[in-house]
Amino acid sequence: MIFIADFHIHSRYSRAVSPDMDIDNLARWARIKGIKLMGTGDFTHPLWLAELKEKLKPTDNGLFSCGETHFILTGEVNSIYTQSNKPRRIHNLIFAPSFGAVERINRKLLSRGARLRSDGRPIVGLSARDLVELVMDASPQSFIVPAHAWTPWYSVFGTKSGFDSLEECFGDMRPYIQAIETGLSSDPAMNWRISGLDQVAIISCSDSHSPRKIGREAAVFDTELNYTSIIEAMRGRRTDKLLYTIEFFPQEGKYHYDGHRLCGIHQGPRETLSKGEICPVCGRRLTIGVMNRVEQLADRPEGFVPERSSPFKSLVPLEEIIAESLGVGQTTKTVETYYQRLIARFGSEFEVLLNTPIDEIKDVDPQIGEGVDRVRKGQLHIEPGYDGVFGKIRIFGQEERIPEGPTDGEQLSLL
Ligand SMILES: [Zn+2]
Ligand SMILES: [Zn+2]
Ligand SMILES: [Zn+2]
Repeated sequence: MIFIADFHIHSRYSRAVSPDMDIDNLARWARIKGIKLMGTGDFTHPLWLAELKEKLKPTDNGLFSCGETHFILTGEVNSIYTQSNKPRRIHNLIFAPSFGAVERINRKLLSRGARLRSDGRPIVGLSARDLVELVMDASPQSFIVPAHAWTPWYSVFGTKSGFDSLEECFGDMRPYIQAIETGLSSDPAMNWRISGLDQVAIISCSDSHSPRKIGREAAVFDTELNYTSIIEAMRGRRTDKLLYTIEFFPQEGKYHYDGHRLCGIHQGPRETLSKGEICPVCGRRLTIGVMNRVEQLADRPEGFVPERSSPFKSLVPLEEIIAESLGVGQTTKTVETYYQRLIARFGSEFEVLLNTPIDEIKDVDPQIGEGVDRVRKGQLHIEPGYDGVFGKIRIFGQEERIPEGPTDGEQLSLL
Protein backbone atom coordinates (compact mmCIF):
# COMPACT_ATOMS: atom_id res chain seq x y z
CA MET A 1 0.00 0.00 0.00
CA ILE A 2 1.05 3.58 -0.62
CA PHE A 3 1.40 5.64 2.55
CA ILE A 4 3.08 8.76 3.92
CA ALA A 5 5.51 8.42 6.84
CA ASP A 6 7.12 10.93 9.19
CA PHE A 7 9.72 9.20 11.35
CA HIS A 8 11.34 12.04 13.25
CA ILE A 9 9.46 14.11 15.82
CA HIS A 10 9.92 14.99 19.49
CA SER A 11 7.72 14.40 22.52
CA ARG A 12 6.93 16.97 25.19
CA TYR A 13 9.86 15.53 27.15
CA SER A 14 12.33 17.18 24.77
CA ARG A 15 13.51 20.74 25.21
CA ALA A 16 11.55 23.49 23.42
CA VAL A 17 8.71 21.15 22.48
CA SER A 18 5.00 21.95 22.71
CA PRO A 19 3.23 20.43 25.75
CA ASP A 20 0.67 19.11 23.23
CA MET A 21 3.11 16.56 21.84
CA ASP A 22 1.42 13.43 23.17
CA ILE A 23 0.23 10.29 21.40
CA ASP A 24 -3.43 11.31 21.11
CA ASN A 25 -2.55 14.63 19.47
CA LEU A 26 0.01 12.99 17.20
CA ALA A 27 -2.56 10.40 16.06
CA ARG A 28 -5.20 13.10 15.54
CA TRP A 29 -2.91 15.45 13.59
CA ALA A 30 -1.53 12.57 11.52
CA ARG A 31 -5.11 11.95 10.31
CA ILE A 32 -5.60 15.65 9.52
CA LYS A 33 -2.32 15.76 7.62
CA GLY A 34 -2.83 12.43 5.82
CA ILE A 35 0.12 10.64 7.45
CA LYS A 36 -0.34 6.90 7.98
CA LEU A 37 2.88 6.16 9.89
CA MET A 38 4.47 8.34 12.58
CA GLY A 39 7.75 7.91 14.40
CA THR A 40 7.22 7.94 18.16
CA GLY A 41 10.36 10.01 18.74
CA ASP A 42 12.17 10.06 22.09
CA PHE A 43 12.06 6.33 22.91
CA THR A 44 15.07 6.85 25.17
CA HIS A 45 13.01 8.89 27.64
CA PRO A 46 11.61 6.70 30.47
CA LEU A 47 8.37 8.66 30.95
CA TRP A 48 7.65 8.87 27.22
CA LEU A 49 8.45 5.17 26.84
CA ALA A 50 5.97 4.34 29.62
CA GLU A 51 3.37 6.42 27.80
CA LEU A 52 4.08 4.64 24.50
CA LYS A 53 3.60 1.27 26.17
CA GLU A 54 0.33 2.38 27.68
CA LYS A 55 -1.14 4.08 24.60
CA LEU A 56 0.06 2.06 21.63
CA LYS A 57 -1.26 -1.33 20.54
CA PRO A 58 1.38 -3.66 19.08
CA THR A 59 0.52 -4.94 15.58
CA ASP A 60 2.71 -8.11 15.67
CA ASN A 61 4.92 -6.86 12.84
CA GLY A 62 7.16 -4.31 14.49
CA LEU A 63 4.69 -1.43 14.31
CA PHE A 64 2.09 -0.06 16.73
CA SER A 65 -1.24 1.67 16.37
CA CYS A 66 -3.41 4.32 17.98
CA GLY A 67 -6.70 4.50 16.09
CA GLU A 68 -5.99 4.64 12.35
CA THR A 69 -2.46 5.99 12.84
CA HIS A 70 0.45 3.58 12.93
CA PHE A 71 3.65 4.23 14.85
CA ILE A 72 7.24 3.05 14.53
CA LEU A 73 9.64 3.26 17.49
CA THR A 74 12.21 6.02 16.94
CA GLY A 75 14.48 8.17 19.06
CA GLU A 76 17.21 10.73 18.48
CA VAL A 77 20.56 10.79 20.30
CA ASN A 78 22.98 13.71 20.48
CA SER A 79 26.60 12.49 20.44
CA ILE A 80 29.02 15.06 21.85
CA TYR A 81 32.69 14.10 21.73
CA THR A 82 36.10 15.04 20.39
CA GLN A 83 37.66 13.41 17.35
CA SER A 84 40.92 14.44 15.64
CA ASN A 85 41.15 17.33 18.13
CA LYS A 86 37.87 18.84 16.99
CA PRO A 87 34.65 19.04 18.99
CA ARG A 88 31.89 16.94 17.37
CA ARG A 89 28.15 17.15 17.88
CA ILE A 90 26.17 14.69 15.80
CA HIS A 91 22.46 13.80 15.94
CA ASN A 92 21.37 10.34 14.85
CA LEU A 93 17.86 8.96 14.48
CA ILE A 94 17.43 5.36 15.66
CA PHE A 95 14.65 2.96 14.56
CA ALA A 96 13.90 -0.08 16.74
CA PRO A 97 11.70 -3.11 16.01
CA SER A 98 10.24 -3.72 19.50
CA PHE A 99 9.99 -2.43 23.05
CA GLY A 100 12.46 -5.18 23.99
CA ALA A 101 15.00 -3.75 21.56
CA VAL A 102 14.39 -0.23 22.90
CA GLU A 103 14.99 -1.43 26.45
CA ARG A 104 18.27 -3.10 25.49
CA ILE A 105 19.43 0.05 23.68
CA ASN A 106 18.43 2.25 26.63
CA ARG A 107 20.17 -0.01 29.15
CA LYS A 108 23.39 0.12 27.17
CA LEU A 109 23.16 3.91 26.84
CA LEU A 110 22.65 4.19 30.62
CA SER A 111 25.65 1.98 31.26
CA ARG A 112 27.71 4.39 29.13
CA GLY A 113 26.69 7.33 31.27
CA ALA A 114 23.78 8.77 29.23
CA ARG A 115 21.28 10.74 31.30
CA LEU A 116 18.13 9.59 29.57
CA ARG A 117 15.76 11.33 31.96
CA SER A 118 17.10 14.83 31.40
CA ASP A 119 15.92 15.29 27.79
CA GLY A 120 13.90 13.38 25.19
CA ARG A 121 16.89 13.81 22.91
CA PRO A 122 19.64 12.79 25.30
CA ILE A 123 23.30 13.76 25.13
CA VAL A 124 25.77 10.88 25.12
CA GLY A 125 29.55 11.02 25.28
CA LEU A 126 29.78 8.26 22.67
CA SER A 127 31.10 8.94 19.19
CA ALA A 128 28.68 8.44 16.30
CA ARG A 129 30.71 5.34 15.42
CA ASP A 130 30.44 3.89 18.93
CA LEU A 131 26.73 4.69 19.03
CA VAL A 132 26.16 2.60 15.90
CA GLU A 133 28.10 -0.27 17.41
CA LEU A 134 26.16 -0.08 20.67
CA VAL A 135 22.77 0.03 18.93
CA MET A 136 23.57 -2.78 16.49
CA ASP A 137 24.87 -4.86 19.36
CA ALA A 138 21.65 -4.30 21.32
CA SER A 139 19.40 -5.01 18.35
CA PRO A 140 20.70 -6.07 14.91
CA GLN A 141 17.34 -5.17 13.33
CA SER A 142 17.59 -1.56 14.39
CA PHE A 143 18.44 1.13 11.85
CA ILE A 144 20.40 4.38 12.23
CA VAL A 145 20.04 7.50 10.13
CA PRO A 146 22.21 10.63 10.51
CA ALA A 147 19.65 13.36 11.24
CA HIS A 148 19.27 16.66 9.32
CA ALA A 149 22.61 15.80 7.74
CA TRP A 150 23.63 19.32 6.67
CA THR A 151 22.61 21.75 9.39
CA PRO A 152 25.62 23.74 10.67
CA TRP A 153 25.17 22.44 14.22
CA TYR A 154 24.58 18.87 15.34
CA SER A 155 24.91 17.11 12.00
CA VAL A 156 27.23 14.70 10.25
CA PHE A 157 28.24 17.25 7.57
CA GLY A 158 27.74 20.36 9.72
CA THR A 159 30.32 23.13 9.34
CA LYS A 160 30.48 23.72 13.10
CA SER A 161 31.10 20.22 14.40
CA GLY A 162 30.69 17.64 11.64
CA PHE A 163 32.77 15.70 9.12
CA ASP A 164 33.48 15.75 5.38
CA SER A 165 32.30 12.20 4.70
CA LEU A 166 30.27 9.36 6.23
CA GLU A 167 33.47 7.27 6.30
CA GLU A 168 35.31 9.84 8.39
CA CYS A 169 32.41 10.00 10.85
CA PHE A 170 31.44 6.34 11.16
CA GLY A 171 34.71 4.55 10.32
CA ASP A 172 34.26 0.77 10.21
CA MET A 173 30.57 1.17 11.14
CA ARG A 174 29.91 3.09 7.90
CA PRO A 175 28.25 0.05 6.18
CA TYR A 176 25.43 0.25 8.73
CA ILE A 177 24.54 3.76 7.56
CA GLN A 178 22.17 3.19 4.66
CA ALA A 179 20.08 6.35 4.71
CA ILE A 180 20.45 10.01 5.64
CA GLU A 181 17.85 12.63 6.46
CA THR A 182 17.97 15.81 4.33
CA GLY A 183 16.79 18.29 6.97
CA LEU A 184 14.65 21.29 6.04
CA SER A 185 17.46 23.33 4.47
CA SER A 186 18.51 20.74 1.88
CA ASP A 187 16.60 18.66 -0.66
CA PRO A 188 17.59 15.45 -2.48
CA ALA A 189 18.84 17.37 -5.54
CA MET A 190 21.50 19.03 -3.36
CA ASN A 191 22.51 15.64 -1.91
CA TRP A 192 22.77 14.07 -5.38
CA ARG A 193 25.76 16.30 -6.05
CA ILE A 194 27.88 14.22 -3.66
CA SER A 195 28.88 10.88 -5.19
CA GLY A 196 29.73 9.54 -1.72
CA LEU A 197 26.00 9.52 -0.98
CA ASP A 198 25.02 7.28 -3.91
CA GLN A 199 25.06 4.28 -1.61
CA VAL A 200 22.50 5.67 0.86
CA ALA A 201 18.78 6.35 0.61
CA ILE A 202 17.75 9.96 1.09
CA ILE A 203 14.78 10.37 3.38
CA SER A 204 12.91 13.33 4.84
CA CYS A 205 11.11 13.83 8.13
CA SER A 206 9.64 16.85 9.89
CA ASP A 207 11.71 16.87 13.13
CA SER A 208 8.58 18.56 14.42
CA HIS A 209 8.24 20.06 17.89
CA SER A 210 4.47 20.66 17.66
CA PRO A 211 1.56 18.59 16.30
CA ARG A 212 0.67 21.09 13.58
CA LYS A 213 4.12 20.86 12.03
CA ILE A 214 4.28 17.09 11.58
CA GLY A 215 4.70 16.05 7.95
CA ARG A 216 6.24 19.34 6.83
CA GLU A 217 8.78 16.94 5.33
CA ALA A 218 7.95 13.24 4.91
CA ALA A 219 8.62 10.08 2.90
CA VAL A 220 6.14 8.20 0.72
CA PHE A 221 6.39 4.41 0.63
CA ASP A 222 4.72 1.62 -1.29
CA THR A 223 5.31 -1.39 0.97
CA GLU A 224 3.48 -3.64 3.36
CA LEU A 225 2.81 -1.76 6.56
CA ASN A 226 5.40 -3.56 8.70
CA TYR A 227 8.78 -2.73 10.24
CA THR A 228 10.91 -5.02 8.07
CA SER A 229 9.45 -3.92 4.72
CA ILE A 230 9.93 -0.25 5.52
CA ILE A 231 13.51 -0.65 6.73
CA GLU A 232 14.35 -2.91 3.76
CA ALA A 233 12.97 -0.30 1.34
CA MET A 234 15.48 2.22 2.74
CA ARG A 235 18.33 -0.29 3.08
CA GLY A 236 17.99 -1.47 -0.50
CA ARG A 237 17.42 2.03 -1.90
CA ARG A 238 14.33 0.57 -3.54
CA THR A 239 12.91 3.32 -5.74
CA ASP A 240 9.83 1.15 -6.34
CA LYS A 241 9.23 1.12 -2.58
CA LEU A 242 10.53 4.49 -1.37
CA LEU A 243 8.44 6.28 -4.00
CA TYR A 244 9.39 9.88 -3.27
CA THR A 245 10.05 12.33 -0.48
CA ILE A 246 8.09 15.45 0.38
CA GLU A 247 10.32 18.46 0.89
CA PHE A 248 10.33 22.01 2.04
CA PHE A 249 11.67 24.29 -0.65
CA PRO A 250 15.20 24.23 0.83
CA GLN A 251 15.41 28.04 0.67
CA GLU A 252 12.63 28.07 3.27
CA GLY A 253 14.83 26.20 5.79
CA LYS A 254 16.57 28.09 8.59
CA TYR A 255 20.11 27.43 7.40
CA HIS A 256 19.99 27.64 3.62
CA TYR A 257 22.04 30.81 3.05
CA ASP A 258 25.10 32.14 4.90
CA GLY A 259 24.51 34.95 7.35
CA HIS A 260 24.44 36.52 10.78
CA ARG A 261 20.99 36.85 12.30
CA LEU A 262 21.73 39.53 14.90
CA CYS A 263 23.08 41.86 12.23
CA GLY A 264 20.56 40.90 9.54
CA ILE A 265 23.34 39.93 7.16
CA HIS A 266 22.56 37.18 4.63
CA GLN A 267 24.15 36.10 1.37
CA GLY A 268 24.58 33.14 -0.98
CA PRO A 269 27.76 31.04 -1.31
CA ARG A 270 29.02 33.01 -4.32
CA GLU A 271 28.82 36.28 -2.44
CA THR A 272 30.58 34.69 0.55
CA LEU A 273 33.30 33.48 -1.78
CA SER A 274 34.00 37.03 -2.96
CA LYS A 275 33.31 38.91 0.29
CA GLY A 276 34.63 36.41 2.82
CA GLU A 277 33.07 34.74 5.85
CA ILE A 278 33.23 37.72 8.22
CA CYS A 279 30.09 39.70 9.13
CA PRO A 280 30.62 43.26 7.78
CA VAL A 281 28.64 44.71 10.71
CA CYS A 282 30.09 43.05 13.82
CA GLY A 283 33.21 41.35 12.48
CA ARG A 284 32.25 37.88 13.75
CA ARG A 285 32.16 34.79 11.56
CA LEU A 286 28.99 34.25 9.55
CA THR A 287 27.07 31.02 10.04
CA ILE A 288 27.79 29.12 6.86
CA GLY A 289 24.56 27.72 5.43
CA VAL A 290 23.72 24.38 3.89
CA MET A 291 23.92 25.59 0.30
CA ASN A 292 27.51 26.66 0.81
CA ARG A 293 28.40 23.45 2.65
CA VAL A 294 26.97 21.30 -0.16
CA GLU A 295 28.99 23.37 -2.64
CA GLN A 296 32.17 22.65 -0.61
CA LEU A 297 31.63 18.87 -0.64
CA ALA A 298 30.01 18.48 -4.09
CA ASP A 299 31.89 16.61 -6.79
CA ARG A 300 29.10 16.97 -9.36
CA PRO A 301 27.42 19.93 -11.04
CA GLU A 302 24.02 21.28 -10.09
CA GLY A 303 21.21 19.30 -11.71
CA PHE A 304 22.98 15.92 -11.65
CA VAL A 305 20.56 13.02 -11.03
CA PRO A 306 22.15 9.71 -9.99
CA GLU A 307 20.71 6.37 -11.06
CA ARG A 308 18.42 4.74 -8.51
CA SER A 309 17.38 7.86 -6.69
CA SER A 310 13.84 8.39 -5.41
CA PRO A 311 12.41 11.66 -6.74
CA PHE A 312 10.90 14.38 -4.55
CA LYS A 313 8.10 16.93 -4.47
CA SER A 314 8.60 20.36 -2.94
CA LEU A 315 5.62 21.70 -1.03
CA VAL A 316 4.60 24.57 1.22
CA PRO A 317 2.44 23.87 4.31
CA LEU A 318 -1.24 24.51 3.53
CA GLU A 319 -1.66 27.13 6.26
CA GLU A 320 1.16 29.14 4.69
CA ILE A 321 -0.44 28.89 1.25
CA ILE A 322 -3.81 30.04 2.64
CA ALA A 323 -2.20 32.96 4.49
CA GLU A 324 -0.19 34.00 1.43
CA SER A 325 -3.13 33.60 -0.94
CA LEU A 326 -5.47 35.71 1.18
CA GLY A 327 -2.84 38.20 2.35
CA VAL A 328 -3.45 37.52 6.06
CA GLY A 329 -1.29 36.35 8.95
CA GLN A 330 -0.70 32.62 9.33
CA THR A 331 -2.18 32.46 12.83
CA THR A 332 -5.43 34.28 12.01
CA LYS A 333 -8.93 32.88 12.42
CA THR A 334 -9.42 33.23 8.65
CA VAL A 335 -6.59 30.80 7.94
CA GLU A 336 -7.89 28.34 10.53
CA THR A 337 -11.42 28.52 9.07
CA TYR A 338 -10.28 27.85 5.49
CA TYR A 339 -7.87 25.15 6.66
CA GLN A 340 -10.63 23.25 8.49
CA ARG A 341 -13.00 23.71 5.54
CA LEU A 342 -10.50 22.26 3.08
CA ILE A 343 -9.67 19.30 5.34
CA ALA A 344 -13.36 18.56 5.96
CA ARG A 345 -14.07 18.61 2.23
CA PHE A 346 -11.03 16.79 0.81
CA GLY A 347 -9.97 14.53 3.69
CA SER A 348 -6.44 15.64 4.61
CA GLU A 349 -3.79 18.31 4.06
CA PHE A 350 -1.68 16.10 1.80
CA GLU A 351 -4.78 15.25 -0.26
CA VAL A 352 -5.24 19.00 -0.88
CA LEU A 353 -1.55 19.70 -1.52
CA LEU A 354 -0.86 16.69 -3.75
CA ASN A 355 -4.01 15.25 -5.35
CA THR A 356 -7.17 17.36 -5.29
CA PRO A 357 -8.00 18.85 -8.73
CA ILE A 358 -7.29 22.60 -8.62
CA ASP A 359 -10.80 23.43 -9.86
CA GLU A 360 -12.29 21.75 -6.81
CA ILE A 361 -10.05 23.77 -4.47
CA LYS A 362 -11.08 26.90 -6.40
CA ASP A 363 -14.70 26.03 -5.55
CA VAL A 364 -13.79 26.63 -1.92
CA ASP A 365 -11.74 29.73 -2.69
CA PRO A 366 -10.34 30.78 -6.10
CA GLN A 367 -7.25 32.46 -4.69
CA ILE A 368 -6.29 29.48 -2.49
CA GLY A 369 -6.80 27.15 -5.47
CA GLU A 370 -4.47 29.36 -7.50
CA GLY A 371 -1.97 29.34 -4.60
CA VAL A 372 -1.90 25.53 -4.40
CA ASP A 373 -1.52 25.35 -8.20
CA ARG A 374 1.47 27.69 -8.14
CA VAL A 375 3.14 25.73 -5.34
CA ARG A 376 2.67 22.47 -7.26
CA LYS A 377 4.30 24.10 -10.29
CA GLY A 378 7.08 25.68 -8.20
CA GLN A 379 5.98 29.18 -9.23
CA LEU A 380 6.90 31.10 -6.11
CA HIS A 381 9.50 33.42 -4.74
CA ILE A 382 11.43 32.57 -1.57
CA GLU A 383 13.69 34.84 0.39
CA PRO A 384 16.25 32.29 1.63
CA GLY A 385 16.52 31.48 5.34
CA TYR A 386 19.85 31.95 7.16
CA ASP A 387 21.44 31.62 10.62
CA GLY A 388 18.27 30.31 12.29
CA VAL A 389 15.80 32.56 10.42
CA PHE A 390 13.21 30.72 8.30
CA GLY A 391 12.98 31.75 4.63
CA LYS A 392 9.95 33.78 3.55
CA ILE A 393 7.58 32.46 0.89
CA ARG A 394 5.83 34.74 -1.59
CA ILE A 395 3.37 33.14 -3.97
CA PHE A 396 1.56 36.29 -5.11
CA GLY A 397 2.66 39.84 -5.79
CA GLN A 398 0.73 42.35 -3.64
CA GLU A 399 -1.28 43.60 -6.65
CA GLU A 400 -2.34 40.07 -7.64
CA ARG A 401 -4.40 39.38 -4.54
CA ILE A 402 -8.15 39.77 -4.50
CA PRO A 403 -8.47 43.42 -3.34
CA GLU A 404 -11.42 42.90 -0.96
CA GLY A 405 -9.93 39.77 0.59
CA PRO A 406 -10.70 38.87 4.20
CA THR A 407 -8.72 40.84 6.72
CA ASP A 408 -9.72 39.13 9.92
CA GLY A 409 -6.89 39.79 12.33
CA GLU A 410 -8.01 37.65 15.25
CA GLN A 411 -5.05 35.74 16.64
CA LEU A 412 -5.24 32.09 17.54
CA SER A 413 -2.84 30.85 20.13
CA LEU A 414 0.25 29.43 18.46
CA LEU A 415 0.98 25.81 19.17
ZN1 LIG B 1 18.42 16.76 15.77
ZN1 LIG C 1 15.13 15.98 16.19
ZN1 LIG D 1 27.18 40.33 12.61
